[in-house]
Amino acid sequence: MENDNRRVINGYKIDPIIFKQPFVKSCDICICSGECCYYGVYTDKFEHEKIIEIKERIIKSMDDSQTKNVDLWFEEPQEDTDFESGIAVGTELHNGKCVFLDKQGFCTVQKIAMEDKEFKWKYKPLYCILFPLIIENGVITVDTEHLDRMHYCNKSENQVSTIFETCKEEIEYLVGKDGIKELEEYSKEFSQKQNLEKKVSVE
Ligand code: SF4
Ligand code: SF4
Repeated sequence: MENDNRRVINGYKIDPIIFKQPFVKSCDICICSGECCYYGVYTDKFEHEKIIEIKERIIKSMDDSQTKNVDLWFEEPQEDTDFESGIAVGTELHNGKCVFLDKQGFCTVQKIAMEDKEFKWKYKPLYCILFPLIIENGVITVDTEHLDRMHYCNKSENQVSTIFETCKEEIEYLVGKDGIKELEEYSKEFSQKQNLEKKVSVE
């Protein structure tokens, strides 16, 4: 990871890898089946509590590939300073996928918010919203380790965009409207710098 003089936007340091990491133009569940959800996710304790509060609503929208036994939804909580509360709670796997992933590849936690005409990410854990971005020690960077496991969005022939271009809505959710404008500027500066460096190296 590049480390010195990293720009700070809305309290987060920015790893410029987000501007150059190739990625698909958009997620397509019909192709990938939501495979980034096959491993579960760590939620913040607060997010976990919010999900448990609406458990009956979630159960109503689950299909027969999912478990409706709430006791099987989460792992034991563990200390983790990467999370606001200091406690992370992992989602369990069922049928080889996160307990909240339905057989069509949709996240039930997001699906119910949309069905109920709420904000689509109202209950969705932050790390799920952000993937393939991740916040690591206050730095917005790319979860390359998890991305490397993917068969659709990590294939070079499908990567016609960059994570920054594809994930603007998600980044704006994190850094706000002003933050995304600052990032647009930073992205331009970064590519100009890269082009200049390339030019110098061929001369
Ligand atoms: S990040 Fe990759 S695996 Fe996950 S939904 Fe998007 S395209 Fe599919
Ligand atoms: S909570 Fe939803 S988005 Fe997150 S891993 Fe599970 S199914 Fe995927």
